[in-house]
Parts: sequence; structure tokens; C-alpha cells
Amino acid sequence: MADQLNLVFFPSSYSELFNAWNRYPKAVPYAGGTALIREQGRPILELPSIILSLERLEEMHRISRSERYLEIGAMAKLSQIIDLGKIVPVALRHCLENIAGPQVRNMATIGGSLCFRGGRLDSSAALMALDAQYELRSAQSSRWISATRFCAAPGLSALNTHELLTRIRIPLETWDYSAYKKFSGQGSNSKVVVFLVKTQKNVLSDIRIVCKTDTLWRNKDSESILAGKNLPLNQRITADFIKNWETFLYSLQTVDELSQKELINFIAININNLAE
Ligand SMILES: Cc1cc2nc3c(=O)[nH]c(=O)nc-3n(C[C@H](O)[C@H](O)[C@H](O)COP(=O)(O)OP(=O)(O)OC[C@H]3O[C@@H](n4cnc5c(N)ncnc54)[C@H](O)[C@@H]3O)c2cc1C
Repeated sequence: MADQLNLVFFPSSYSELFNAWNRYPKAVPYAGGTALIREQGRPILELPSIILSLERLEEMHRISRSERYLEIGAMAKLSQIIDLGKIVPVALRHCLENIAGPQVRNMATIGGSLCFRGGRLDSSAALMALDAQYELRSAQSSRWISATRFCAAPGLSALNTHELLTRIRIPLETWDYSAYKKFSGQGSNSKVVVFLVKTQKNVLSDIRIVCKTDTLWRNKDSESILAGKNLPLNQRITADFIKNWETFLYSLQTVDELSQKELINFIAININNLAE
């Protein structure tokens, strides 16, 4: 009977939210709504029949920073994060600036972009490269999970039933070289690459490259080829590195040939920027 109702809840605390979710197990969290109402060309929108609006959960809008982390509530809008300016790691800022247009970015939340069930969205790639952690909360408890584990979970989400993503914690590290490229497509069809390098006294101390196609890829083997090498890199090392990426990407059955070439080119251009 309850399934036939149309209900919208506006809880202002987690206990109110989880109580409502317990009473109406099929209720759907609603953040900015851009994914939930996307591609509905009809004058009357079709919405889940029972909605749990996250709008009034003040904690989920909070943004704070400490010396080591930037913490962003899952209800922060993409445009709000961009507007934080230089404190936001460049790769994440560029990633968010390249998502849709300003109208969508003013509505869409970072939590919604990570919990979208139709595929991985661009922000997942940037947050995985930055080694972000996500806070997941249920009625009984809360837990932290790495962006990598969250993305690797089967079924596109590590969220358990009746669990919310509430906070994103991003380490504030200095990346000496940071590049982000979006190739084509929108939403889960887009292809993006994040390329980050950290140096210490002319030594490459850390490199992270994350590619997103239909899913997220990180080739840790290639990263270990470069870690600890002197800068500028010599030509032999960069050639080995590019070769390793070619072998890795060409072995991925689900990535089409054009995408493989685009991704390799971008990686090659950036690694060559660090070479003699
Ligand atoms: C025109 C257009 C263009 C776009 N282009 C791009 C693009 O180029 N690149 C890109 O990456 N994305 C793109 N998007 C997708 C956009 O990023 C997502 O629609 C948006 O981030 C979803 O956020 P939202 O707050 O609107 O989520 P909602 O639509 O409210 O929710 C999305 C899903 O997540 C769940 N959810 C939301 N918040 C939480 C939470 N805190 N905890 C648990 N579950 C939650 C909801 O139940 C729902 O299933 C585009 C969207 C549009 C409309």
C-alpha cells in the first residue's frame, strides 16, 4: 500500500532520515536531482514515489579544511566546490569545471555524482587520483572508505542498503605537476584522464594516473617504473613507461581503439613534459 503513495520527506537530522527510510524502505535519496530527472523530455517529470530530500541535512552541506584535509559535505554543489578556488586541488577543480554547464553545476552535488548508479562519473576519477576518502553513514554507524575501494565495488557502488555518502575527505598534498583532460562524452560515457606528479629535490617521488572510460583504470605497474627516478626523466625510461601503458590499455577489451590512442597520446605528452 505504502508503495503507491507519493511522499517527500525533508529530514533535518540523520535520525529523522533513517527513521523515515526504515518506515519506507523503497524511499530514494534526492540530492540535486539532476541525475534523477535527467533525459525526461516530458512536461511532467517522473520521480521516485517516495523521496528523501537531503536538502535540510545541514551537516551534509558543511565544508571545512584542516592543515591536511579538505572536507566537503556530500550535498555541496559542484559550483560551490569550484568557487572555493585555490584550496581545491587543481585536478579536481578542472574536472568539475568540465562537467555540464553552470545551471547543472549549480544543482548537482558531489555526493550525487559519486552515488549515481548508471555508471562512473568524472569526479570519481579525480577523487581516486587524489586518494580521497568517503564517509558512509547508516542508521547504526558510520565508516570511511577509500575512493578506490568505493569505485571498485561491484554493482557500481560500495553503498550498502540504506547507507548514505555523507562526507568527502581530500588530502591537501602539493602536486607539482597536474593535468586533467576530458576527451568526449557526457556523464558516464565520458572519457577522462587525471595525471599527477609529486617531486622532491628533482626526484619524482609519486605519480598517479587515473583513466575513466566505462570504468576507472589505474596502472600501478607503470607508476613504479617512474617512482624515485631523477628529473628530467631520461628518454629510455619515458619510452618504457609509454610502452607499459600501451600494453596495459591495449589489453582492455572494453576500451575502443580510438579511446586507447587518445589516452596513450595524452599520457605520452605529459610524461614527455617531464623528460630531458
Ligand atoms: C545535462 C547534463 C550533463 C552532464 N554532464 C556530465 C559530465 O559531463 N560529466 C559528469 O561527470 N557528469 C555529468 N552529468 C551528471 C551529473 O554530474 C550528475 O547528474 C550529478 O552529479 C548528480 O548529482 P545530483 O546531486 O543531482 O544527484 P541526484 O540526481 O539527486 O542523485 C543521483 C543518485 O545518487 C543518489 N544519491 C545522491 N546523493 C546521495 C548521497 N549523499 N548518498 C547516497 N546516495 C545519494 C540518488 O538516490 C540517485 O540515485 C551531467 C548531467 C546533466 C543533467
